[in-house]
Amino acid sequence: MALLDIKGVESGYGQLQILWGIDLDVAQGETVLLLGANSAGKTTLLRTLIGLLPCWAGSIEFDGQALQTLRPDQRIRRGIAFMSELGVFPGLSIEENIRLGGYALSPAQVRKRSGELFELFPALAQKRRHLASSLSGGQRKMLGIAKVLVSQPRLLLMDEPSSGLAPVFVKQVIEALQTVIGRGDTSLLIAEQNVAFLRLADRGFLIDGGRVKLSGTRQELENEDAVRAAYFGL
Ligand code: ATP
Repeated sequence: MALLDIKGVESGYGQLQILWGIDLDVAQGETVLLLGANSAGKTTLLRTLIGLLPCWAGSIEFDGQALQTLRPDQRIRRGIAFMSELGVFPGLSIEENIRLGGYALSPAQVRKRSGELFELFPALAQKRRHLASSLSGGQRKMLGIAKVLVSQPRLLLMDEPSSGLAPVFVKQVIEALQTVIGRGDTSLLIAEQNVAFLRLADRGFLIDGGRVKLSGTRQELENEDAVRAAYFGL
């Protein structure tokens, strides 16, 4: 059974429909890439999944239970986390940012989880008392990932982790995500227009104009002419 199973999802802003019947699923332990150009509807879909936007039609099931009528905080409590493009609070220290990510946990749990995350991301541990604003772009994203992992989500929705980053930092973020995926306890749905993220994914969905145009395994997508033409420039 899929961990996340969405069927026929429609959504938008006010009268403006953006998503036109999206079908997508993420299995337990799987990493799925939501690939699409600017304005394809990636952010809109993630916002609809976490409940920041209403689902107009269709169904969103998580672990076999319907989510579409639940508030965002109820969805978060079920084990879904959302990492937006913004990510961290620059005026707080690294430690404080991570502590904020665990607002729903006891202080002892936060200490334990922070320790584990600092082991996972040693570059952050060295700077734990520094302000987040002092980090490089790539390390800031790493902090954003650590912050959202404190609550041990079963499914992490990530909105464009590469946004605003120079290629060298994109590589750092991909490596950080590889570490997270390697631990195997979090499923990921990553929205990206950077095809470099395909290498992390088990499967991918290409969306355009609020519709799924293609889906398949990483290998199938890499060999797909439409993906090669649009994203690899071939
Ligand atoms: P990007 O890489 O630009 O974030 P995206 O695939 O995430 O692209 P969305 O942000 O989901 O795309 O945008 C899809 C469409 O929804 C776009 O046409 C955009 O102009 C529109 N849109 C986004 N936010 C709003 C809003 N608050 N009100 C009205 N329309 C919006």
